[in-house]
Amino acid sequence: MLYLTGYTFCVSEQVTIKKPFDAHVHLRRGAMLRAITRYTAERFGHAIVMPNTDPPIETLDAAIVYQQEILAAPGIGNFEPLMTLDLTKNVTPAEIERSAVGSEGVKIYGVKYYPWGATTNSQWGYRDILEAKEVLKEMERVGMPLLLHGEVHLDEHDAAVDPYKGEQSFVRDVLPRLLEAYPKLKISLEHVSSGEAADFLEKNGNEGRLVGTVTVHHLLYTREEAETEPMLKVKPLIKNSSDKEKIRALVKKGLPFIFAGTDSAPHPESKKLSPTGAYGIFSAPAAVELYTQIFEELDALDKLENFLSVYGPKFYGLEPSEETITLQKKDWQITEAVTTEDGEKVLPLGNETIHWQVKNN
Ligand SMILES: [Zn+2]
Repeated sequence: MLYLTGYTFCVSEQVTIKKPFDAHVHLRRGAMLRAITRYTAERFGHAIVMPNTDPPIETLDAAIVYQQEILAAPGIGNFEPLMTLDLTKNVTPAEIERSAVGSEGVKIYGVKYYPWGATTNSQWGYRDILEAKEVLKEMERVGMPLLLHGEVHLDEHDAAVDPYKGEQSFVRDVLPRLLEAYPKLKISLEHVSSGEAADFLEKNGNEGRLVGTVTVHHLLYTREEAETEPMLKVKPLIKNSSDKEKIRALVKKGLPFIFAGTDSAPHPESKKLSPTGAYGIFSAPAAVELYTQIFEELDALDKLENFLSVYGPKFYGLEPSEETITLQKKDWQITEAVTTEDGEKVLPLGNETIHWQVKNN
């Protein structure tokens, strides 16, 4: 089999694409950052770096300091981290205006919304995204994207929403109001995990306006597998096989508003395997490889480059990477944890056999 599609040259056993763009990654700080950032930097030209560190990134100045820390990590190469702000109540319209212009060559590429109590360090957010009126107005004015962790955790009577239905509630009750109230706001629905969200995006998605990112784990696993495996504990929760199939069908379509965001989110093994368990999957060491495997399964390798490397940067007003990466069909496995300088172990996704491997030039 031999076919040419755009820039992708593919002989079925090997695929060369522009270096991928991770539209959603958590790089943490300190010893963890220094241990894990290289895995993203080896595989991705750029990444949108999430701001839910402790303390959260709320100002351009804090983002500049954070970017310097990332760029000082080992194995960084030409990798370019793109910074974001956390939509806490401390973020002002004036800071949005300043962040869109930037300083010292650093600007802010998006503002991340976490629902109340949703995930790691999200306790400083707005209870309801629609409360953030002045900030959203300014973001709409300056063209700053809103990155949504689109889940409802508590209903209007303060009752907990079934965590398997939180994204469905958000897409049904909140997202349409947001789209209506801010007709020019650029919105990314992050880590699509449900059939309802996939359907909503297929109907309403639009390159410059409403996009969605998709993780490896929501394309690979089902609720049954995730419920018995602490390593697959993640928000939004991994859902039923019907949801997984809807998301797989969505990426197979090759729509220009659907692209990769790994949501790679490392935690020390001690926290991940504790009885309460931390939410987050560290997928960076195998994400590009697993996306490739999934696209091969979907018979859609010709759409891989756009999904991994082209549509993401386009949404953020950037050119795709000028570098390329070659993947070859070859079985391998991740057998060892990543260890930080403090001796903490971080277990990556990928202890099952992976069928594609990055080829070192
Ligand atoms: Zn995330």
